[in-house]
Amino acid sequence: MKSYNNKNWKAFRDEVIRLDGGACAVCGRTLADGVILQVHHKQYLQGFKPWEYPSELCETLCKGCHASEHGKIPPKFGWEHIGYDDLGDLTGTCECCGNNIRYVFLVQHEKWGAMEVGEVCCDNLTSTQAASGLMESRRRYARRLKTFIGSIRWKIAASGIHHLVQDKVHIEIVPQNNEFKLRVNNKMGKMMFKTILDAKIKSFELIESGELGDYVKRQNQKYRDYIDKSRFY
Ligand SMILES: [Zn+2]
Ligand SMILES: [Zn+2]
Ligand SMILES: [Zn+2]
Repeated sequence: MKSYNNKNWKAFRDEVIRLDGGACAVCGRTLADGVILQVHHKQYLQGFKPWEYPSELCETLCKGCHASEHGKIPPKFGWEHIGYDDLGDLTGTCECCGNNIRYVFLVQHEKWGAMEVGEVCCDNLTSTQAASGLMESRRRYARRLKTFIGSIRWKIAASGIHHLVQDKVHIEIVPQNNEFKLRVNNKMGKMMFKTILDAKIKSFELIESGELGDYVKRQNQKYRDYIDKSRFY
């Protein structure tokens, strides 16, 4: 499952709210009054992402005024999932049920506009498992990471180097000036890591993203090219 990023939407929304002076365009209340500010799209533009609208087609409304602007509560069906973000902690609010949320899903509806909701509301509104599927794959990723970090395949050499062999690739975490570097098949990387854990997490990301495999393929190709050349001369 592809994971999205809400950065564009957040930047756009913040800009609209800023242009409106940080207040609801109808009742004038602000965050300081304890309201949730939302961005309302005054008309629907087919094929536009919520952040691609000209800002003059948008206005800041508090949650209450936004609901009455649309006549009532948001439609229950027909939503499309278009974005995802991890806030790092429970600082988000589901615009559908009001729950505090950490994982934010951006959904849009042709008769309403965009709304940030939690996992359960996203699944319900889109009649899909887009959100729960994404969360499940995140949980599986976290479990694999934990297994990798704690793996007994990691050995510690007398030199203090932590190392393991993964898919015939030799990964070493080499201490250097109180920090650590990654060495892959005897080639030292440039990145510095504060802790061994950071270095292990990075190795895992490189393995999972396929970058490590690609890197080794390139190294092997370089070596083959070198052999071919030396044969030619
Ligand atoms: Zn208002
Ligand atoms: Zn609206
Ligand atoms: Zn919700």
